[in-house]
Amino acid sequence: MILLTLSYVTNTRNVHSMSQSNLTKSLPNVIVMATGGTIAGTASAGDDGVYQAGEVPVSALIDAVPEASSLANLTGIQIASIGSQDMNDVVWMQLAKELDKHLSNDSVSGAVITHGTDTMEETAFYLNLVVDSDKPVVLTGAMRPATALSADGPLNLYNSVAVAASEKARGYGVLVVANDSIHGAREVVKTNTLSVQTFESPNMGLLGALHFGSFRMYRKPLKTHTTNSIFSIRSIEELPRVVVIFAHSNMNGDLIRAAVEMGAKGIVLAGVGNGNASKLAIAAMAEAREQGVVIVRSTRSSSGAVLRNQEVDDDANGFVVSDQLNPAKARVLLQLGLTQTDDVKTIQEYFWTY
Ligand code: GLU
Repeated sequence: MILLTLSYVTNTRNVHSMSQSNLTKSLPNVIVMATGGTIAGTASAGDDGVYQAGEVPVSALIDAVPEASSLANLTGIQIASIGSQDMNDVVWMQLAKELDKHLSNDSVSGAVITHGTDTMEETAFYLNLVVDSDKPVVLTGAMRPATALSADGPLNLYNSVAVAASEKARGYGVLVVANDSIHGAREVVKTNTLSVQTFESPNMGLLGALHFGSFRMYRKPLKTHTTNSIFSIRSIEELPRVVVIFAHSNMNGDLIRAAVEMGAKGIVLAGVGNGNASKLAIAAMAEAREQGVVIVRSTRSSSGAVLRNQEVDDDANGFVVSDQLNPAKARVLLQLGLTQTDDVKTIQEYFWTY
């Protein structure tokens, strides 16, 4: 644990620091970066699910959980105030660069990022690949707005601060903490539209479990991340356009051709089963590949890997498979991969590695 007698100081605008009484505590310094989402949502009444996401500022989020100040000195930074359905590359860049700057400071122990749950798995995986630090970075959110009965945000935030403040959580890559569970960024998926038990890691299971701030880790990801990733926010300024196309019965190649015409550099297929699609769709993907577009076959199934050359001839068509990455995460890795190369063999290696 890093012992400090002074607060962690930042020149960022929209910064909320802990109260003066906390400044003297010898506690780890944790940055809380807010992006919006239901954890910052408000409803006019506490008994229904109708609410506006992202309205509560980071200062109020921190003040609502005074218990967290016994775990760490908290500094809040407002990055955005959006529902995560509006998360985009521009906010990702800003978030990752700001995060990198603060984690580079020796006096900072870790970071919590509050985020809408809808696309949390994508932001977590993106940060897992571009952040160059082994300090704990924890994404958290809520399924119920702050004003709802039994709001889940406060305990999620408290637990996230506990993890971000702890040396024990170093070296696991970016984490998602929700509903007493600790997930790895590569594995975690939002599985339920309404339930507080929405996050699961269907292929590989949890990394750790929490109980009111105390936690245990049970396993460590072997896939490459953060400090060992070749992708770094220090060298990326923008990401290429990559789209996801959902496979279904009676599918033709029209949307694949439209994506190419609109300038997509990569296409991820949310394929049926083992990343498959109709003959017409596969033919359109092969044509797209001939025009230089990189094609990654993922699956719309909720778990399992997509493997090469099973029903589809990937070698002949120059396709890449996503291994266990779902379409949303495959899109993130393909965007990052295309910042380095358009060689499909190298991009396939990225999918085995990350
Ligand atoms: N659609 C909103 C979002 O992802 C609300 C969902 C949530 O945060 O749980 O930000």
